[in-house]
Amino acid sequence: QPKIKIENLSKAYQVRNGRLIALSDANLDIMPNEFISVVGPSGCGKTTLLNIIAGLEQATSGNVEVDGKKVTGPGKERGVVFQQYALFPWKTVIKNIEFGLKLRGYSKAERRERAEQYLKYVNLKDFAHAYPKELSGGMKQRVAIARAYAVQPEVLLMDEPFGALDAQTRAQLQEDLLKTWQTEKKTCFFITHDVEEAVILGQRVVIMSARPGRIKEIIDVDIPYP
Ligand code: ADP
Ligand code: ADP
Repeated sequence: QPKIKIENLSKAYQVRNGRLIALSDANLDIMPNEFISVVGPSGCGKTTLLNIIAGLEQATSGNVEVDGKKVTGPGKERGVVFQQYALFPWKTVIKNIEFGLKLRGYSKAERRERAEQYLKYVNLKDFAHAYPKELSGGMKQRVAIARAYAVQPEVLLMDEPFGALDAQTRAQLQEDLLKTWQTEKKTCFFITHDVEEAVILGQRVVIMSARPGRIKEIIDVDIPYP
C-alpha cells in the first residue's frame, strides 16, 4: 500500500481575471520509505501540491490519502519544512523547536533535551536563545529543519529546504537527510529547483511543468546510494 496516494488532484485559484489552474490532474503513488524529489519551473504548482499533501490547502478536486486515510488537515505523521521558514518571530530558536514537541505531549524536560539535540544537528547550538530576526536566511532555514526533524514525523514534506544555504552547509544537510531517511525509514517529498540536488537525493524525480501546473514526467534514478 502506498504511504501517500495522490489521485486526480487539481487546484484552481480564483484570480482577478478568472481561474488560475495551479495544479491539474496530478496522480502519484509514493511508497513507504520512498524519496521523491520534485523539480519544475517557478509557478508549476510544486508548493501547491506540497501544501495539499500537508493538509494546509484544500484541493478543488481529487484526493490525497496517507496510509489509506483521506487527508483533511495537518497530521502528526507529516512534518513540513516551509520555503519561508515560518518561524514564530516572538519565540526564541529553542522555543520554536519545542513548540511542535509541546503540541505532541512531550514533557518540559524531554522537549528541552530533544530541541537541544536537533539544534546541535543543524549546528546552531550557540543560537538557542536568539530570536529569528537575529539570524541569517540560512540559519533560519536550519532552525526550520530542526523543528521539523525533532518531532520525528514518518513523512517529511520539504519545500526547497536547502535553497538559502551555502554550498558546504547544503552538502552536509543533504548527507544528514539521506542518513535520517534511511535509518528512520522516512517517506520524503522534497521540492528543489536544483536538478542536480533532485537526482542526488531522489529515488524518483517528479518533473512538473507550468500553465497549467501538472506532473509532466516521473523519472527513476538508478544511482545506488553509498
Ligand atoms: P511553485 O511552487 O512551483 O513555484 P506554486 O504552487 O507556488 O508554484 O504556484 C502555482 C501557481 O498558482 C502560480 O501561478 C501561482 O501564482 C498560483 N498561486 C499560488 N498560490 C496562490 C493563491 N493563494 N492565489 C492565487 N494564485 C496562487
Ligand atoms: P547565509 O548567511 O548565507 O544564510 P549561513 O546561515 O550558513 O549562511 O551563515 C553563515 C555563518 O554566518 C553562520 O554559521 C554564522 O556563524 C554567521 N552568522 C550569520 N548571521 C549571523 C548573526 N546574525 N549573528 C551571528 N552570526 C551570524
